[in-house]
Order: sequence, then structure tokens, then C-alpha cells
Amino acid sequence: MPKKLAAGNWKMNGLRQALDEVRALHDACPDARCDIVICPPATLIGPMVEVSNDMQIEVGGQDCHANTSGAHTGDISAPMLADSGASYVILGHSERRASYGETDAQVRAKTTSAWNADLTAIVCIGETLEQWEAGQTLDVVGRQLQGSTPDGATSETLVIAYEPVWAIGTGKTPTLEEIGAVHGFIRDALVKRFGEEGQAMRIVYGGSMNPKNASDIAGIPNVDGGLVGGASLKASDFCHIVKALD
Ligand code: PEP
Repeated sequence: MPKKLAAGNWKMNGLRQALDEVRALHDACPDARCDIVICPPATLIGPMVEVSNDMQIEVGGQDCHANTSGAHTGDISAPMLADSGASYVILGHSERRASYGETDAQVRAKTTSAWNADLTAIVCIGETLEQWEAGQTLDVVGRQLQGSTPDGATSETLVIAYEPVWAIGTGKTPTLEEIGAVHGFIRDALVKRFGEEGQAMRIVYGGSMNPKNASDIAGIPNVDGGLVGGASLKASDFCHIVKALD
């Protein structure tokens, strides 16, 4: 079974003072057995790497450009993230797909760029409420999975985050059975495409994961961790989730 991953997505939250939460997380869960990564805003990546230097906490970006450098005002490249000390990057988050019209092909190109910079890509896929209600979840997830991930993925370079869009930040989640069915479907698709590596790849769940539901979600077959937004901002909440994944 893959080692579980607790990934925090801070989104556009956090000034320098928020680094205290990283110290607090380390103090609260010093011996975590799962991998922990926090993806703060780009401004905090370097400072967070310094703070977490001797901790078991890795740092990631929330997006990267597909190119390594050039005339792309406001963007950040994968080598820049790596240069700042990041080791992961979230790609294709539904907020970026919705706000910036990111397509599967763009996410796939960004993933290749992330790999070239030795970053592990956390590629997000998931259906909207409309698609969920229309019973299209597996079609959407299958299409996004195929389109957003390059060939040659390994369990070291790729993490898949299943994030139903309607569950993000809403306090709603699918039932445990429903999460299990989608994760099982993703596992089968990964094994079909990547063979043994697909068996070892981590599939994490994201969408209103919190200290109360984390243990139940962590116990579902083929759930290898969580991508956590709101509940990753406070060390006390995130530590509960880390412990549930241990
Ligand atoms: C997310 O943004 O990836 C996420 C899962 O958010 P939340 O945990 O707040 O629903």
C-alpha cells in the first residue's frame, strides 16, 4: 500500500505570520508516518522551506507555467518552484480550471514541466455539481485523468487528487461508498495505463475533508491521503487529519 500523503492547499491565504502554523504542526505531530506537504502562496515558499528545514514537512507550489521562463507576467515556472525549495506542485485545481479556463492539455504540459524540474505533480480531477447530478462523474474523471497526465508517470512523480468540485469549500462530501467507487475507478485506470506503477500511485481525496470526517475517509480502499484546503490553515485541525492518515 502506498505511504499516505497529507497535502495542505493554503490557496491565497497566509502572510509571514502564518509560518507559525508550520512550527505548531511540527510540534503537534512530530512523528507523523504519512508524508506531509504544504502548498502555500508562492510568496511563502522560500520562507516555509527555511522554517521546515529540519521537519518532516515538504513544501509545494499551487501552480506552474508550462514554460521554464519567458514573457509570462505574473506566472511562475517549475524550475523557479524547485529553486525555491519546493518538491511538489498542485496542477489543474478546479479553481484554476474554472477561473483561468485551464484545459486538460495545459495541465498535461504543466505536469511535464514539473517533472523536468524534479517536482512531484499533484494533478486534480473532479466533476462539477451539474455533472454529478447528471451521473457523469466517471466519464468526466476518466477523461480528465487521461488528458491531464503525460505518459511515463511513476508513483514518485504523480499523485492524483480526486476533488468533486461541489465538495470544495462547501462542507458537503460524497458518501464513503461514492468516494470509494471513484477511487477504485481511478486505480483501475492507472493500473491499465501505467501497470505496476499505477498500483503504487497515490490517489488522494479532496473536498471538505476535516478533523471529523478524516478517519472515515482515510479508511476507504484506494484513498491514499487527502488534499485539504480550509482545514489545512490551522495546525490543530491539520494535525488531526495527519493523524487520521497515519
Ligand atoms: C481544495 O481546495 O483543494 C480543497 C479540498 O478545499 P477544502 O478542503 O476547503 O474543501
